[in-house]
Amino acid sequence: MAAYEYETHEYDVVVVGAGGAGLRATLGMAEQGLRTACVTKVFPTRSHTVAAQGGIAASLSNMGPDHWQWHMYDTVKGSDWLGDTDAMEYLAREAPKAVYELEHYGVPFSRTEEGKIYQRPFGGHTTEFGEGPPVQRTCAAADRTGHAILHTLYGQSLKQQAEFYIEYFAIDLIMSDDGVCQGVLCWKLDDGTLHMFSAKMVVLATGGYGRAYFSATSAHTCTGDGGGMVARAGLPLQDMEFVQFHPTGIYGAGCLITEGARGEGGYLTNAEGERFMERYAPTYKDLASRDVVSRCMTMEIREGRGVGDQGDHIHLHLNHLPPETLAERLPGISESARIFAGVDLTKEPIPVLPTVHYNMGGIPTNYWGEVLSPTSDDPDRVSPGLMAVGEAGCASVHGANRLGSNSLIDLVVFGRAAAIRAGQIIDPEMANPTLNERSVEMALARFDGLRHARGQVPTAELRLEMQKTMQDDAAVFRTDETLSQGVKKMEGVADKLDDLQVSDTSLVWNSDLMETLELANLMPNAVATIVSAEARKESRGAHAHEDYPDRDDENWRKHSLTWFKGIKPKLDYRGVHTDPLTSHNEGGIDLKKIAPKARVY
Ligand SMILES: Cc1cc2nc3c(=O)[nH]c(=O)nc-3n(C[C@H](O)[C@H](O)[C@H](O)COP(=O)(O)OP(=O)(O)OC[C@H]3O[C@@H](n4cnc5c(N)ncnc54)[C@H](O)[C@@H]3O)c2cc1C
Repeated sequence: MAAYEYETHEYDVVVVGAGGAGLRATLGMAEQGLRTACVTKVFPTRSHTVAAQGGIAASLSNMGPDHWQWHMYDTVKGSDWLGDTDAMEYLAREAPKAVYELEHYGVPFSRTEEGKIYQRPFGGHTTEFGEGPPVQRTCAAADRTGHAILHTLYGQSLKQQAEFYIEYFAIDLIMSDDGVCQGVLCWKLDDGTLHMFSAKMVVLATGGYGRAYFSATSAHTCTGDGGGMVARAGLPLQDMEFVQFHPTGIYGAGCLITEGARGEGGYLTNAEGERFMERYAPTYKDLASRDVVSRCMTMEIREGRGVGDQGDHIHLHLNHLPPETLAERLPGISESARIFAGVDLTKEPIPVLPTVHYNMGGIPTNYWGEVLSPTSDDPDRVSPGLMAVGEAGCASVHGANRLGSNSLIDLVVFGRAAAIRAGQIIDPEMANPTLNERSVEMALARFDGLRHARGQVPTAELRLEMQKTMQDDAAVFRTDETLSQGVKKMEGVADKLDDLQVSDTSLVWNSDLMETLELANLMPNAVATIVSAEARKESRGAHAHEDYPDRDDENWRKHSLTWFKGIKPKLDYRGVHTDPLTSHNEGGIDLKKIAPKARVY
């Protein structure tokens, strides 16, 4: 192996990722006087959060009555009873506080006539514990909410003296022999130098792994790097079988048309011009939750009622809405529809298709963002020195299915919670741990091995094979047959990681090597997804299994965990937290209200 030198940087906290979750954590850590570095492979405001259009959920009651308990109920039901009840309570209770903080930091929310934060309806968000009409709970800055949040949080973090390491690629975690995270090894992309970040706490905020699939709304940078690092550190990934498909990706391009479009009155039609959602979800129609709408669209297409020459997509209509509403509330998607579908949405419908959008699964954590390393004796054992927040983590508040606008709120609530917790447990006076040489050597050797990989399979070719396999065999519809065939195929695909071919060995702006590191991270995420999907013999949330169409709480109300040895997965399970944080007497939710029942909209 070539000899590698690296520069060492010491901090109290190193946050990996500068999306909404990473920036909110960074800001909170720095505000408390912790020496904080934020390492990111893309410029902070280019993180995928920038693309979030629709908004951020919080029960502010600006547009009608609302209550955090209703928000909690909707989240529990949305999760199809797989979320952890304590974490879901924390999310719904803290949401208003977290949004007002964003307002005070300077996020330019859209406003009502009286100057309050504007809120729109979103799928699955209701009143009166699901008995009442839809609620307007989703706070929005037009259709550029994520963009507004990122710019504000980045500015605030700089003001608090957080230090940014931009275009640094995190390669691997440095772990002590007894499992304490001590830091992270990074590669500076523009000059090829290596950097070791030693820290008392590493926070993974690396986002989702949408790019394990062929058609995804997420950025090309969403490659599950945090999950890859965690898998290699001997820690599990949780609930990976639950992948959300967004009903309205633009046909062909995959770009997202926000659910806010249906929130503002848009609706779907099939080849017969029928508003078919009225048939499947008579109450909430086009605003039923995402997995339901995606499945109904897939059903219409499979039964021969898709639109277009191939009958393989669906129409989304906004052309009946006043052009002023479109211009004011949905300017961004008017542009996307024009550029990516070539339609003028004031006149014609947009061709759409369910597209991979969000990963409910990820690195298991408690509601403080502390990463879990479950054992049979202690399913909630904390893995010291390591946190995970945002889409990379799994707290778990989204369970088997995430409600729209519940991710942005998850980013800021748990980014903030991680900072509060770090403030409690980190002693800035203490020296940083001495880095484990063996772990450092392993990280360098893996990097060097990929840099000099001289096999037969180019990275782009293997990535495409993985993406096609996942799209074919682990998408909206799943059967025993497709899943077991998919597991076999993915075994073969994953084995080819040993036969990769990297043609460029330079260390400066080597996109071939970077994409190879990303592929090596995507692979455990993809394998865990299909293996845990194959094992789960029920239907729950986004995991709709044709051979087991019902939810089975008795046997399957549990989180799946996937560990890796190399690229070989091992499955196990841990129980769902069914207790809330506060009892009904203390003002908490009445448990009877959130007891499992059928999920109909
Ligand atoms: C098109 C689209 C629209 C959406 N709209 C909404 C919405 O309206 N409301 C809502 O609630 N949710 C929405 N979502 C979901 C939500 O936006 C995402 O789940 C969320 O933004 C993820 O944020 P994050 O901070 O976890 O990660 P990201 O924003 O994805 O950021 C990841 C960060 O990690 C860094 N990183 C990753 N790997 C490495 C590495 N190896 N080394 C260094 N840095 C690394 C990246 O540079 C980046 O800064 C939308 C998602 C998409 C794709």
